[in-house]
Amino acid sequence: MEKRTNLTGLSQAELVSFMADNGEPAYRGRQIFAALQHRRLRSFDEMSDLPKALRERLQETATASTLTIESRYLSADGTRRFLMKTHDNLPVETVFIPEERRDTICFSSQSGCPLQCTFCLTAQLGLLRSLTPGEIVEQIVIVLNDAYGVGQKPPRGTNLVGMGAGEPFLNFDALLKAIRIMADPQGLFIVPHRMTVSTAGVVPRIRELATIPDRPNLAISLAAPTDELRDMLMPINKKWPLEELLGACKEFEQTLKAGERFTFEYVMLDAVNDSDEHARQLANLLNRHDLHTKGNLIPHNPARPLPYQPSPRTRVEMFKGILESKGIHTFVRKPRGRDIFAACGQLAAVAQSPGLRASSSAG
Ligand code: SF4
Repeated sequence: MEKRTNLTGLSQAELVSFMADNGEPAYRGRQIFAALQHRRLRSFDEMSDLPKALRERLQETATASTLTIESRYLSADGTRRFLMKTHDNLPVETVFIPEERRDTICFSSQSGCPLQCTFCLTAQLGLLRSLTPGEIVEQIVIVLNDAYGVGQKPPRGTNLVGMGAGEPFLNFDALLKAIRIMADPQGLFIVPHRMTVSTAGVVPRIRELATIPDRPNLAISLAAPTDELRDMLMPINKKWPLEELLGACKEFEQTLKAGERFTFEYVMLDAVNDSDEHARQLANLLNRHDLHTKGNLIPHNPARPLPYQPSPRTRVEMFKGILESKGIHTFVRKPRGRDIFAACGQLAAVAQSPGLRASSSAG
Protein backbone atom coordinates (compact mmCIF):
# COMPACT_ATOMS: atom_id res chain seq x y z
CA MET A 1 0.00 0.00 0.00
CA GLU A 2 1.29 3.45 -0.98
CA LYS A 3 1.75 5.43 2.24
CA ARG A 4 3.31 8.51 0.70
CA THR A 5 1.10 11.51 -0.04
CA ASN A 6 0.25 11.88 -3.74
CA LEU A 7 0.83 15.59 -4.28
CA THR A 8 -1.08 15.56 -7.61
CA GLY A 9 -4.25 15.15 -5.56
CA LEU A 10 -3.69 18.25 -3.43
CA SER A 11 -5.07 21.71 -4.10
CA GLN A 12 -2.65 24.61 -4.13
CA ALA A 13 -3.68 25.59 -0.57
CA GLU A 14 -3.20 22.01 0.64
CA LEU A 15 0.25 21.84 -0.97
CA VAL A 16 1.24 25.07 0.76
CA SER A 17 0.20 23.62 4.11
CA PHE A 18 1.85 20.25 3.32
CA MET A 19 5.12 22.07 2.71
CA ALA A 20 4.62 24.20 5.85
CA ASP A 21 4.26 20.97 7.85
CA ASN A 22 7.61 20.00 6.38
CA GLY A 23 9.19 23.28 7.50
CA GLU A 24 9.18 24.87 4.05
CA PRO A 25 7.94 28.35 3.11
CA ALA A 26 4.60 28.85 1.32
CA TYR A 27 6.20 29.66 -2.03
CA ARG A 28 7.61 26.12 -2.19
CA GLY A 29 4.08 24.74 -2.09
CA ARG A 30 3.02 27.06 -4.92
CA GLN A 31 6.16 26.17 -6.87
CA ILE A 32 5.46 22.44 -6.60
CA PHE A 33 1.79 22.92 -7.48
CA ALA A 34 2.83 24.74 -10.67
CA ALA A 35 5.42 22.05 -11.44
CA LEU A 36 2.82 19.29 -11.16
CA GLN A 37 -0.20 20.96 -12.66
CA HIS A 38 1.07 23.66 -15.01
CA ARG A 39 4.40 22.23 -16.16
CA ARG A 40 2.89 18.75 -15.84
CA LEU A 41 6.03 17.16 -14.41
CA ARG A 42 5.59 13.69 -12.97
CA SER A 43 8.73 13.24 -10.86
CA PHE A 44 10.61 15.31 -8.31
CA ASP A 45 13.83 14.65 -10.26
CA GLU A 46 12.51 16.80 -13.12
CA MET A 47 11.89 19.74 -10.75
CA SER A 48 15.44 21.01 -11.08
CA ASP A 49 14.49 24.40 -9.64
CA LEU A 50 14.03 22.73 -6.24
CA PRO A 51 17.10 22.18 -4.03
CA LYS A 52 18.40 18.63 -4.37
CA ALA A 53 18.13 18.03 -0.61
CA LEU A 54 14.43 19.00 -0.69
CA ARG A 55 13.75 16.69 -3.64
CA GLU A 56 15.36 13.85 -1.75
CA ARG A 57 13.31 14.59 1.36
CA LEU A 58 10.12 14.73 -0.69
CA GLN A 59 10.81 11.30 -2.18
CA GLU A 60 10.48 9.82 1.29
CA THR A 61 7.09 11.26 2.19
CA ALA A 62 5.42 12.11 -1.10
CA THR A 63 4.95 11.11 -4.73
CA ALA A 64 4.55 13.26 -7.82
CA SER A 65 2.79 10.48 -9.76
CA THR A 66 1.28 7.10 -9.02
CA LEU A 67 -0.12 5.85 -12.34
CA THR A 68 1.98 3.97 -14.85
CA ILE A 69 1.13 3.57 -18.53
CA GLU A 70 0.80 -0.07 -19.50
CA SER A 71 -0.35 0.32 -23.10
CA ARG A 72 -1.39 2.96 -25.53
CA TYR A 73 -3.55 2.18 -28.55
CA LEU A 74 -3.92 4.46 -31.55
CA SER A 75 -7.09 4.37 -33.66
CA ALA A 76 -7.28 5.01 -37.38
CA ASP A 77 -9.41 8.09 -36.52
CA GLY A 78 -6.71 9.54 -34.24
CA THR A 79 -8.35 8.49 -30.97
CA ARG A 80 -5.87 7.22 -28.39
CA ARG A 81 -6.72 4.82 -25.60
CA PHE A 82 -4.47 4.56 -22.58
CA LEU A 83 -4.45 1.59 -20.29
CA MET A 84 -2.84 2.64 -17.03
CA LYS A 85 -2.22 0.88 -13.74
CA THR A 86 -2.57 2.22 -10.22
CA HIS A 87 0.17 1.64 -7.61
CA ASP A 88 -1.87 -1.36 -6.42
CA ASN A 89 -2.01 -2.77 -9.95
CA LEU A 90 -5.61 -1.94 -10.90
CA PRO A 91 -6.59 -0.89 -14.42
CA VAL A 92 -7.48 2.71 -15.29
CA GLU A 93 -8.55 3.63 -18.82
CA THR A 94 -8.49 7.05 -20.39
CA VAL A 95 -9.27 8.11 -23.95
CA PHE A 96 -8.07 11.10 -25.99
CA ILE A 97 -10.39 12.15 -28.81
CA PRO A 98 -8.99 14.79 -31.19
CA GLU A 99 -11.49 16.95 -33.02
CA GLU A 100 -11.21 19.88 -35.37
CA ARG A 101 -12.00 22.65 -32.95
CA ARG A 102 -11.27 21.03 -29.63
CA ASP A 103 -9.85 17.88 -28.10
CA THR A 104 -11.71 15.79 -25.57
CA ILE A 105 -10.33 13.60 -22.82
CA CYS A 106 -12.62 10.93 -21.42
CA PHE A 107 -11.45 9.95 -17.94
CA SER A 108 -12.38 7.21 -15.49
CA SER A 109 -13.61 7.82 -11.97
CA GLN A 110 -13.33 4.24 -10.75
CA SER A 111 -11.35 1.14 -11.60
CA GLY A 112 -14.11 -1.13 -12.87
CA CYS A 113 -17.69 -0.22 -11.95
CA PRO A 114 -20.18 -1.54 -9.39
CA LEU A 115 -23.20 -0.87 -11.61
CA GLN A 116 -24.35 -3.60 -13.90
CA CYS A 117 -25.45 -1.89 -17.10
CA THR A 118 -25.89 -4.81 -19.44
CA PHE A 119 -24.61 -2.95 -22.54
CA CYS A 120 -21.29 -2.01 -20.93
CA LEU A 121 -18.13 -4.05 -20.81
CA THR A 122 -16.73 -2.22 -17.78
CA ALA A 123 -19.61 -3.63 -15.75
CA GLN A 124 -18.11 -7.08 -16.13
CA LEU A 125 -15.10 -6.08 -14.03
CA GLY A 126 -17.25 -5.16 -11.03
CA LEU A 127 -15.91 -2.43 -8.78
CA LEU A 128 -12.21 -2.81 -8.14
CA ARG A 129 -11.76 0.52 -6.34
CA SER A 130 -12.76 4.17 -6.55
CA LEU A 131 -9.97 6.42 -7.79
CA THR A 132 -8.40 9.14 -5.68
CA PRO A 133 -8.49 12.81 -6.74
CA GLY A 134 -4.80 12.51 -7.65
CA GLU A 135 -5.48 9.49 -9.88
CA ILE A 136 -8.25 11.38 -11.67
CA VAL A 137 -6.08 14.47 -12.24
CA GLU A 138 -3.08 12.39 -13.27
CA GLN A 139 -5.00 10.76 -16.13
CA ILE A 140 -5.46 14.20 -17.65
CA VAL A 141 -1.81 15.16 -17.09
CA ILE A 142 -0.61 11.97 -18.78
CA VAL A 143 -2.88 12.36 -21.78
CA LEU A 144 -2.08 16.06 -22.28
CA ASN A 145 1.65 15.31 -22.15
CA ASP A 146 1.26 12.48 -24.62
CA ALA A 147 -0.84 14.53 -27.03
CA TYR A 148 1.10 17.82 -26.96
CA GLY A 149 4.42 17.25 -25.17
CA VAL A 150 5.32 17.68 -21.50
CA GLY A 151 3.95 20.99 -20.22
CA GLN A 152 3.10 22.24 -23.74
CA LYS A 153 -0.02 24.37 -23.99
CA PRO A 154 -2.87 22.58 -25.78
CA PRO A 155 -3.32 24.25 -29.18
CA ARG A 156 -7.10 23.96 -29.00
CA GLY A 157 -9.47 23.92 -26.07
CA THR A 158 -9.55 20.76 -23.97
CA ASN A 159 -12.90 19.37 -22.90
CA LEU A 160 -13.16 16.72 -20.23
CA VAL A 161 -15.85 14.10 -20.00
CA GLY A 162 -16.30 11.82 -17.02
CA MET A 163 -17.68 8.96 -19.08
CA GLY A 164 -14.90 6.40 -18.79
CA ALA A 165 -14.96 3.49 -16.38
CA GLY A 166 -17.00 3.86 -13.22
CA GLU A 167 -19.99 5.78 -11.96
CA PRO A 168 -18.62 9.24 -11.11
CA PHE A 169 -21.41 9.98 -8.63
CA LEU A 170 -20.40 6.98 -6.53
CA ASN A 171 -17.03 8.71 -6.11
CA PHE A 172 -18.49 12.16 -5.73
CA ASP A 173 -16.13 13.83 -3.25
CA ALA A 174 -12.98 12.71 -5.08
CA LEU A 175 -14.51 13.81 -8.37
CA LEU A 176 -15.37 17.29 -7.11
CA LYS A 177 -11.95 17.70 -5.57
CA ALA A 178 -10.23 16.69 -8.82
CA ILE A 179 -12.44 19.13 -10.73
CA ARG A 180 -11.46 21.97 -8.40
CA ILE A 181 -7.75 21.15 -8.66
CA MET A 182 -7.95 21.08 -12.47
CA ALA A 183 -9.77 24.43 -12.55
CA ASP A 184 -6.95 26.29 -10.77
CA PRO A 185 -5.62 29.05 -13.09
CA GLN A 186 -2.07 28.32 -11.86
CA GLY A 187 -2.48 24.68 -12.81
CA LEU A 188 -4.21 22.87 -15.67
CA PHE A 189 -6.83 25.63 -15.77
CA ILE A 190 -9.62 23.49 -17.23
CA VAL A 191 -12.73 25.18 -15.91
CA PRO A 192 -15.87 23.23 -14.88
CA HIS A 193 -17.82 24.56 -17.87
CA ARG A 194 -15.47 22.53 -20.07
CA MET A 195 -16.29 19.32 -18.21
CA THR A 196 -19.27 17.02 -18.49
CA VAL A 197 -19.95 14.26 -16.03
CA SER A 198 -22.30 11.46 -16.94
CA THR A 199 -24.29 9.53 -14.36
CA ALA A 200 -26.39 6.39 -14.63
CA GLY A 201 -28.79 8.11 -12.24
CA VAL A 202 -27.52 8.42 -8.65
CA VAL A 203 -30.41 10.64 -7.57
CA PRO A 204 -29.08 12.04 -4.24
CA ARG A 205 -25.90 13.26 -5.96
CA ILE A 206 -27.88 14.91 -8.78
CA ARG A 207 -29.75 16.83 -6.08
CA GLU A 208 -26.46 17.69 -4.36
CA LEU A 209 -24.90 18.87 -7.62
CA ALA A 210 -27.85 21.24 -8.01
CA THR A 211 -26.64 23.08 -4.89
CA ILE A 212 -22.98 23.40 -5.92
CA PRO A 213 -21.87 26.58 -7.69
CA ASP A 214 -18.59 25.50 -9.39
CA ARG A 215 -19.87 22.35 -10.98
CA PRO A 216 -19.39 20.47 -14.24
CA ASN A 217 -22.08 20.03 -16.88
CA LEU A 218 -24.36 17.09 -16.27
CA ALA A 219 -25.37 14.24 -18.56
CA ILE A 220 -27.84 11.51 -17.64
CA SER A 221 -27.63 8.11 -19.25
CA LEU A 222 -31.21 6.98 -19.87
CA ALA A 223 -31.04 4.01 -22.27
CA ALA A 224 -34.74 3.23 -21.89
CA PRO A 225 -38.05 5.12 -21.71
CA THR A 226 -39.85 2.73 -19.34
CA ASP A 227 -38.96 1.30 -15.94
CA GLU A 228 -39.51 -2.21 -17.19
CA LEU A 229 -36.87 -1.91 -19.91
CA ARG A 230 -34.52 0.28 -17.88
CA ASP A 231 -34.59 -2.17 -14.95
CA MET A 232 -33.21 -4.72 -17.39
CA LEU A 233 -30.60 -2.51 -19.10
CA MET A 234 -29.53 -0.41 -16.12
CA PRO A 235 -30.36 -2.18 -12.84
CA ILE A 236 -29.66 1.03 -10.87
CA ASN A 237 -33.17 1.92 -12.07
CA LYS A 238 -34.61 -0.47 -9.48
CA LYS A 239 -33.19 1.79 -6.79
CA TRP A 240 -33.99 5.12 -8.43
CA PRO A 241 -36.74 4.61 -11.03
CA LEU A 242 -37.43 7.00 -13.88
CA GLU A 243 -40.04 9.17 -12.11
CA GLU A 244 -37.63 9.85 -9.25
CA LEU A 245 -34.65 10.31 -11.58
CA LEU A 246 -36.42 12.76 -13.87
CA GLY A 247 -37.86 14.62 -10.87
CA ALA A 248 -34.28 15.19 -9.64
CA CYS A 249 -33.27 16.18 -13.17
CA LYS A 250 -36.00 18.81 -13.25
CA GLU A 251 -34.76 20.22 -9.92
CA PHE A 252 -31.26 20.34 -11.40
CA GLU A 253 -32.45 21.97 -14.60
CA GLN A 254 -34.12 24.73 -12.62
CA THR A 255 -30.73 25.69 -11.17
CA LEU A 256 -28.93 25.92 -14.54
CA LYS A 257 -26.96 29.11 -15.09
CA ALA A 258 -25.84 30.68 -18.36
CA GLY A 259 -23.24 28.53 -20.09
CA GLU A 260 -24.13 25.34 -18.20
CA ARG A 261 -25.40 22.31 -20.03
CA PHE A 262 -27.65 19.45 -19.10
CA THR A 263 -28.12 16.64 -21.59
CA PHE A 264 -29.34 13.09 -21.72
CA GLU A 265 -27.72 10.14 -23.45
CA TYR A 266 -29.45 7.20 -25.00
CA VAL A 267 -27.47 4.19 -26.18
CA MET A 268 -29.13 2.70 -29.26
CA LEU A 269 -29.41 -1.09 -29.11
CA ASP A 270 -30.73 -2.87 -32.17
CA ALA A 271 -34.29 -4.14 -31.66
CA VAL A 272 -34.08 -3.55 -27.90
CA ASN A 273 -34.77 0.14 -27.20
CA ASP A 274 -34.84 1.75 -30.66
CA SER A 275 -38.41 1.41 -32.00
CA ASP A 276 -40.70 4.29 -32.97
CA GLU A 277 -42.77 3.49 -29.90
CA HIS A 278 -39.67 3.80 -27.67
CA ALA A 279 -38.93 7.19 -29.23
CA ARG A 280 -42.48 8.41 -28.57
CA GLN A 281 -42.35 7.08 -24.99
CA LEU A 282 -39.03 8.84 -24.43
CA ALA A 283 -40.29 12.15 -25.81
CA ASN A 284 -43.44 11.92 -23.71
CA LEU A 285 -41.43 11.11 -20.60
CA LEU A 286 -39.15 14.14 -21.04
CA ASN A 287 -42.02 16.44 -21.97
CA ARG A 288 -44.17 15.25 -19.06
CA HIS A 289 -41.34 16.28 -16.74
CA ASP A 290 -41.03 19.56 -18.62
CA LEU A 291 -37.35 18.91 -19.29
CA HIS A 292 -35.76 21.09 -21.95
CA THR A 293 -32.65 18.97 -22.20
CA LYS A 294 -30.96 18.10 -25.47
CA GLY A 295 -30.31 14.48 -26.29
CA ASN A 296 -27.36 12.47 -27.57
CA LEU A 297 -28.10 9.21 -29.30
CA ILE A 298 -25.15 6.86 -29.03
CA PRO A 299 -25.10 3.92 -31.43
CA HIS A 300 -24.01 0.95 -29.31
CA ASN A 301 -20.40 -0.09 -29.69
CA PRO A 302 -20.35 -3.84 -29.95
CA ALA A 303 -17.89 -5.75 -27.83
CA ARG A 304 -17.92 -9.44 -27.13
CA PRO A 305 -19.43 -10.97 -25.01
CA LEU A 306 -22.10 -8.26 -24.82
CA PRO A 307 -25.32 -9.54 -26.42
CA TYR A 308 -26.21 -6.34 -28.34
CA GLN A 309 -25.74 -4.90 -31.78
CA PRO A 310 -25.86 -1.23 -32.76
CA SER A 311 -29.10 0.09 -34.22
CA PRO A 312 -28.86 0.54 -37.99
CA ARG A 313 -28.20 4.08 -39.18
CA THR A 314 -31.69 4.50 -40.66
CA ARG A 315 -33.28 3.41 -37.37
CA VAL A 316 -31.21 5.96 -35.45
CA GLU A 317 -32.33 8.68 -37.89
CA MET A 318 -36.00 7.66 -37.55
CA PHE A 319 -35.68 7.73 -33.75
CA LYS A 320 -34.06 11.15 -33.89
CA GLY A 321 -36.80 12.43 -36.21
CA ILE A 322 -39.55 11.40 -33.77
CA LEU A 323 -37.80 13.11 -30.84
CA GLU A 324 -37.26 16.26 -32.89
CA SER A 325 -40.90 16.28 -34.01
CA LYS A 326 -41.84 16.41 -30.33
CA GLY A 327 -39.55 19.34 -29.64
CA ILE A 328 -36.46 17.52 -28.34
CA HIS A 329 -33.22 18.62 -29.94
CA THR A 330 -31.22 15.52 -30.61
CA PHE A 331 -27.73 14.75 -31.87
CA VAL A 332 -26.24 11.48 -32.97
CA ARG A 333 -22.82 10.88 -31.47
CA LYS A 334 -20.24 9.70 -33.95
CA PRO A 335 -18.48 6.60 -32.63
CA ARG A 336 -14.77 7.21 -32.07
CA GLY A 337 -11.98 4.69 -31.58
CA ARG A 338 -14.13 1.59 -32.07
CA ASP A 339 -11.20 -0.25 -33.65
CA ILE A 340 -9.15 0.09 -30.46
CA PHE A 341 -12.06 -0.55 -28.08
CA ALA A 342 -11.98 3.04 -26.91
CA ALA A 343 -15.63 3.83 -27.59
CA CYS A 344 -18.39 4.22 -25.01
CA GLY A 345 -19.11 0.99 -23.17
CA GLN A 346 -16.03 -0.74 -24.53
CA LEU A 347 -13.51 0.11 -21.84
CA ALA A 348 -12.04 -2.97 -20.21
CA ALA A 349 -12.13 -4.62 -23.61
CA VAL A 350 -8.40 -5.11 -23.57
CA ALA A 351 -8.75 -8.37 -21.71
CA GLN A 352 -11.12 -9.60 -24.41
CA SER A 353 -8.94 -8.54 -27.29
CA PRO A 354 -5.46 -9.99 -26.86
CA GLY A 355 -4.82 -9.58 -30.58
CA LEU A 356 -5.00 -5.80 -30.31
CA ARG A 357 -1.62 -4.29 -30.90
CA ALA A 358 -0.41 -1.66 -28.49
CA SER A 359 2.21 0.94 -29.28
CA SER A 360 4.99 1.40 -26.77
CA SER A 361 3.89 3.42 -23.79
CA ALA A 362 4.54 7.11 -23.80
CA GLY A 363 4.39 10.04 -21.44
S1 SF4 B 1 -22.30 2.33 -18.37
FE1 SF4 B 1 -21.13 3.51 -16.84
S2 SF4 B 1 -22.31 3.23 -14.96
FE2 SF4 B 1 -22.99 1.60 -16.34
S3 SF4 B 1 -21.67 -0.17 -15.86
FE3 SF4 B 1 -20.67 0.98 -17.53
S4 SF4 B 1 -19.23 2.33 -16.50
FE4 SF4 B 1 -20.70 1.64 -14.96
